Formats: sequence, structure tokens, C-alpha cells
Amino acid sequence: MAQASTDQLKDALGTRIDALRPELERIGRDIHANPEVGYEERQAVAWLTELLKKHGFSVEVGVADTPTAFVATRRNGTGPTVAFLSEYDALRGLGHGCCHNLIATASAGAGIALADALDRLSGRVLVIGTPAEEGGGGKIRLINAGIFQEVDAAMMFHPDTRTQVLHWALAVTHMQFEFIGRAAHASGDPEKGINALDAFVLAYNGISLLRQQVKEGARLHGYLKEGGTAPNIIPERTSGEFLVRAREQAYMEELVQKVKNIFQAAALATGCSLNLTFNEEPYSDLRNNAVLAHLFEENLRRIGLDPIEGVPWENAGSTDMGNVSHVVPALHPTVAIASPEVAGHSQAFLEASGSPRGYQAMIDAAKALTMTGADLLANPSLVEQAKVEFRRT
Ligand SMILES: [Zn+2]
Ligand SMILES: [Zn+2]
Repeated sequence: MAQASTDQLKDALGTRIDALRPELERIGRDIHANPEVGYEERQAVAWLTELLKKHGFSVEVGVADTPTAFVATRRNGTGPTVAFLSEYDALRGLGHGCCHNLIATASAGAGIALADALDRLSGRVLVIGTPAEEGGGGKIRLINAGIFQEVDAAMMFHPDTRTQVLHWALAVTHMQFEFIGRAAHASGDPEKGINALDAFVLAYNGISLLRQQVKEGARLHGYLKEGGTAPNIIPERTSGEFLVRAREQAYMEELVQKVKNIFQAAALATGCSLNLTFNEEPYSDLRNNAVLAHLFEENLRRIGLDPIEGVPWENAGSTDMGNVSHVVPALHPTVAIASPEVAGHSQAFLEASGSPRGYQAMIDAAKALTMTGADLLANPSLVEQAKVEFRRT
């Protein structure tokens, strides 16, 4: 497609997103007001798929044997397949403190606008509903079910305190622990007890000591969910969760083995038995596709946003988009919705996810995403370039 007509097309896509704003914002507000945790996002999926059907998508809900995963499709002829990924799960105890309500609707909007332009483009537009990003690994299930096999580029944005094209995310393993000891009267019969809280304290201290000896960027953190039932009973059972993160998956696996050893040592030292279980598969580190990132950056500037240069690994969390980025060219930029001092997963971030600035970021992200999709459908050689870059990294 000639440059002049691509420019015209992008102007039309921007106008289309503005026209969709009331529908997108309504669903964004409804999801924000009705937080549903991973794999329970029934209402969010109903609202999003209803919207996508209304705009001509054929929708399959329950893909990958997961009731709250979906694939919505519109196509015209043959050409590249561009997927916009929609996240919609809330945090346990903190509602939409990770702003997935804005991700859900930005990707839906980007998909609808690009699909409406399929009279001028050929290819396929997908909106993929990916549940349970906060620890449940919904995208990993979808990868394993083959949902990404025919995808040429997968894109989404994440709200943040900075507008940044490149994003770094750590590989992470999520583990649950349980120490089982024996209850006894804490004063009358302490020698008959086996103290499961002591086991936890040993494990916690062991992990705290390990933290000093790990490579730059690794993170070890967790919490105690059950610490006993009464002060005069030797705690019989303790349980909780720990996360192990690192910049590369192979090093993360080394650390997981060390943390396992610490838990086992604590069990041995106290005489407790130990159950360690792991969530699905680990999240991979995120590989930014430079070709997609460059296109997205140009489109952000086109709509008047000025991204900052990211500092690698600064404030890095983890995402199952990392796993997607290991199977197809992927884009996971951020758009600012709050000032830099605000922490992610906080009350202030929760408020930002329902604020006018949040919904403006949703619209800006939808525009830059849909324009990036248009670049790929209008010029399939860019898809080839993205694939060459994907194979190189
Ligand atoms: Zn989060
Ligand atoms: Zn998130």
C-alpha cells in the first residue's frame, strides 16, 4: 500500500477508535466495577464477546478447555494474522489494581477497528481472550492448545506509570508450600509437638539468606497464609506461596532448585512433612520484537504521545505474555496512566485504572495498536521482517 493511502487508513482507524469510545469505556468501567479473579472472568468474557459479535466477529468461547478463554475472528482473503490479546482478570483482594480492564477493552477496540478496515486490507484479525494473567498462566494454556500456531504477530499494551515501547519482564515460577507437623499443648506437652511454624521460619530465613547470593535482578518473595490457630497450640500446619523470578528462565530454574532445597532442609530440621506444588508452567522472560516495537513507536508519535527510553529491567514484573513472545513475534508496550511515584498493584493504581486518564490511555493504546496491525496487513514484508528478528533473538 502506498504511503499516502496508509496515512489515510491510519487517520480513519483513529477516527473509528474515537467512535467506539463509549462502548469500550462502558465495558472498561463495568469490568472495573466487577472484578473477577483468574479463570472466573465470566462476566468480563460475556461483555467482551457480545461486543465483538456485534461488530461482526465470529467468536469461540471456551477454547483450550478453559471456559473464560476465547478467540474472536474476522478475515478477508489471505494475508497475515494479527492478534490483539485481551486480559481481564483482577488481583486477589485488590480488584483491578493491575488495570486489566483497560487492556481488555484496548485490545477489543484495536481488533474491531482493524477488522472494519478489512475491506481495504487482506488478512485475519483475532482478538484472543487470555484469562488468568495474575499467576494462572492463561496464555500458556492457549499456547499449549495451539491457539498461536497461525498467529504472525501478537500484541497488547499494559497500563503503567511510564509510556514506554520496550518492556522487560522476568521469568517466574509460582509455588505453594505446606508444612505439616503435630499439634500439642504449647505449655503442657511441647515436646510432643512438631512445630510447622518453626519450619516456615527456617525456610523464610533460608530464602532471605539466599537473596544475598543471587544474580542481579532475581527476586524471591512470598507470604504465609496459615501460621497456626492459637497461641497455646503448637502450630500443626503452615502454608503459603512463594515466587522465584530471574531475567532468564534457565537461571530461574537453578534458583527454584535452591529454594526447594531450603524448604526440604526446614522440613528435615523440624521433623515436619512438606508439600510443594507448582502452578502450571513457569512464565518466561519477555522478548521484545524490535520490528513491532519500532512500528508501534511511530504510531504512538503519530497520535501525539512521546514514549520515554526504557531502562532495561527497571521495575520489572512478570507476565505470561513472556511465553507468547517465545513462540511468535510479540509486542507489550506500556502507556502511562499515573505519575511515576505510584506503585503497581496498589490502591492508587486501582484508582488510576478507573480514572479519566486511564480511559484516555486505553483509547491511545487502542489507536497505536490498531495502526500497528494495519502496518502489518498493508505490508506483509514487515511481518517477514518481524519473523526474522524473532528467529534472531
Ligand atoms: Zn499484575
Ligand atoms: Zn497486569
